[in-house]
Amino acid sequence: MLRDSFGRVATDLRVSLTDKCNLRCTYCMPPEGLDWLPNAQLLTADEIVRLVTIGVEQLGVTEVRYTGGEPLLRRELPDIVGRTAALSPRPQVSLTTNGIGLARLAGTLVEAGLDRVNVSLDTLDRDTFKRLAHRDRFEDVIAGLSAAHDAGLRPVKVNTVLMRDVNDHEAVPLLRYCLEQGYELRFIEQMPLDAQHGWTREGMVTADEILALLSVSFDLTPDDLEERGSAPAERFLVDGGPARVGVIGSVTRPFCGACDRVRLTADGQIRNCLFATEESDLKTPLRDGASDEELAARWIAAVSRKRAGHGIDDPSFLQPSRPMSAIGG
Ligand code: SAM
Ligand code: SF4
Repeated sequence: MLRDSFGRVATDLRVSLTDKCNLRCTYCMPPEGLDWLPNAQLLTADEIVRLVTIGVEQLGVTEVRYTGGEPLLRRELPDIVGRTAALSPRPQVSLTTNGIGLARLAGTLVEAGLDRVNVSLDTLDRDTFKRLAHRDRFEDVIAGLSAAHDAGLRPVKVNTVLMRDVNDHEAVPLLRYCLEQGYELRFIEQMPLDAQHGWTREGMVTADEILALLSVSFDLTPDDLEERGSAPAERFLVDGGPARVGVIGSVTRPFCGACDRVRLTADGQIRNCLFATEESDLKTPLRDGASDEELAARWIAAVSRKRAGHGIDDPSFLQPSRPMSAIGG
C-alpha cells in the first residue's frame, strides 16, 4: 500500500499524459504557452500502462484519472483507457479535460472503459471564454460536454474556477446551466499553481464568497457530510435536491488531512502532493531496466515522505517550480 507517515493511504492516482494544451487559461499558463517537455522525455503509452499496472495491481490504487495539460491531445488515450480498464482489480477510470475534441471521442472513450469525466468550463459567454482561455473554442467545449452526456457518462462533472471581476458574476448562471443540462458543477478555489506566478490571495474568490453568491438565488443545504471521506468537494443540495453543487476550498478549507491522491507526471515523476517541492523519478530506473518490485519500492518511499499539508498559509510557503499543467491537475 501507499501509506504515508500520517497514516493516509493513496488510492487515487492522477496521471498527466502531456504538459501541452490547446488553451491558455490565465490561472494556468501564460498566453504564449510554455516550453513543452521534449517528446523523448514523455512516458510512452506502454510506459504509462506499466506504471499504472504496478499502482493498481501491487500498490492498492483503485482510481486512475488521466489529466494534463490536455489529455485529449494524446492520440493513444483510448488505448491507454482500455488497457487501464482491463486491469485486475478493475480501477475506476476517469478523465479531466477541457472538452475540446470530446465531441468526437466521448463514445470511443466510453467503449474503451472510461467511467467518469470532469470538463472544465469557467464561463457561458464566448467573449469571456476567449479572454480567459486565449482561444475561441467555447462552442467546442459545450459540444464536448453534451457528447459526454449523450455517451452515457454520469455524472458529467463541470469544474469552474472563478476569478474576481472576470467571471465571478457567472456563478449563478453557470449553476443554472448545469442544473438544466444535468451536469454536476464544482467550483474550485484558484490555487497558486500558474506558471507566471500571478496568483494573489485578494484575486482568489473564496469558498465562502462562492457560497454567498449562490445563496442569493438558491437554497443550499450541506449534503453527505459524513460521507465526504477523502472527496475534496463540500457538496450541497440545491433547492432541496436531488441536484447538487460542490465547492472545493483547496486554499481556505484544505482537505489535506484526508488526501488519498498521488500523481505521476507526464515525464515519469511521482509527486506525493500538488504542492510538493520534490519529485521521485520513476522514468530513469524504468528505462534502465528496473523490475516492477524496484519501481514499486521507489513509489512507496515517495509517498511515505508526503507532508501533512500544503502550507499555503505558512509564511515559508513556496510555489512548486512546476506549474499545474506539468504536474497534472
Ligand atoms: N486541461 C484539462 C482541464 O482543463 O480540465 C486538465 C488539466 S487542468 C490543469 C485540471 C483542472 O485544474 C481544471 O479543472 C482547471 O480548471 C484546474 N486548474 C488549473 N489551474 C488552476 C489553478 N491555478 N487553481 C485551481 N484550479 C486550477
Ligand atoms: Fe489547458 Fe487545462 Fe491549463 Fe486550461 S487549465 S490551460 S485547459 S491545462
